[in-house]
Amino acid sequence: MNLHEYQAREILQRHGIPMPAAAVAASPEEARAIAARLGGGGKVVVKAQVHAGGRGKAGGVKLASGAAEAAAAATQILGMTIKGLPVHKVLVTPAAEIASESYVGIIVDRASQRPVLMVSPAGGIDIEQVAAQTPQQIYRLAIDPRFGLLPHQALGLGFKLYPGLGAARAAADIMQKLAAAVYAVGASLAEINPLVTTPDGAVVALDAKIVVDDNELERRPEIAALRDATAEAPSEVAARKAGLTFIKLEGTVGCCVNGAGLAMATMDLVKYYGGAPANFLDIGGSSNPQKVVDALAIITADPNVKAILFNIFGGITRCDDVANGIVQATSRFPLRVPLIVRLTGTNEREAVEILTKAGYSALTDMDEAVKQAVERAA
Ligand code: GDP
Ligand code: MN
Repeated sequence: MNLHEYQAREILQRHGIPMPAAAVAASPEEARAIAARLGGGGKVVVKAQVHAGGRGKAGGVKLASGAAEAAAAATQILGMTIKGLPVHKVLVTPAAEIASESYVGIIVDRASQRPVLMVSPAGGIDIEQVAAQTPQQIYRLAIDPRFGLLPHQALGLGFKLYPGLGAARAAADIMQKLAAAVYAVGASLAEINPLVTTPDGAVVALDAKIVVDDNELERRPEIAALRDATAEAPSEVAARKAGLTFIKLEGTVGCCVNGAGLAMATMDLVKYYGGAPANFLDIGGSSNPQKVVDALAIITADPNVKAILFNIFGGITRCDDVANGIVQATSRFPLRVPLIVRLTGTNEREAVEILTKAGYSALTDMDEAVKQAVERAA
């Protein structure tokens, strides 16, 4: 689950990381009032609060001198969509003077099976870009979960960012607090980009990004309560409500599969035959017809989808349940794209009967079904 910058800032500030004061506005008037209150007549920054990186490049971060300009900037930004997501709120904060920008982040790394602290003196820009162009500018350290980030380790990395002892110590302190925050909220990623030095030598975080591991939410209701469904892709919100595991992708073959492994294999095969999946969707083990109806509603709402592929391996899932779901769904909202169904396993015969009666045909061979889906989506 993504947090907004203003939510991530609150968490980092609670852990003692220095950040400029800030407040959130949902209207230009509110932005004006905050700029007047916090800005002291000087420059402020107005920042889009959306679950997307690169807001700066997209025009979602604007410098304003004074309250009137802040209101104007808020008017502009509140009307924007960034990477498909509408902006409902802006953060207003006094502008810091920047002497240097660096990057500090912690990400749970599968290879080392640990949280990895990454720092770079090349901050302010996407860390992916630094990794691609100047990888020698990124320094990494895997954190041993038994001991946490130790002070001498943090200081070592602090010196990779700043030659002076004062700034290196300040950065090290921030790294340790960031590591504590990662454990406190169950983050899979926590990032400060940029971490800046000001002309008077202070080290301050100007941006904050936290992604919380979804599996942590159940035991952290106070973090789960931070979810802002209005800022998420509507299809992903609908899928979560329906208890489906769904990830939107860019292709044209809508996939409805039972089981995550089979769903991955299906997407691989779609690619193998020259197509591209429009989504990952796992309807789960014991899928009742309603889940299939919900799944089809979500897939058909995507205008990119040119064909829909069902791939069902009936174990605990009963093929006749799925077939009934397909019939119910398509009688409620007629499909505008071809439907290819492959099912095999428990109650396969009943399923074929149900589908045939409703005018659909069903395949049992996975390759054949995927090939047809790719062809019809082309
Ligand atoms: P992002 O593009 O979504 O990561 O948004 P950021 O919050 O990182 O802002 C993008 C860039 O705007 C930063 O890298 C800075 O160069 C600039 N910026 C943000 N806040 C300030 C500020 O307080 N003062 C100044 N001078 N520039 C800022
Ligand atoms: Mn940033």
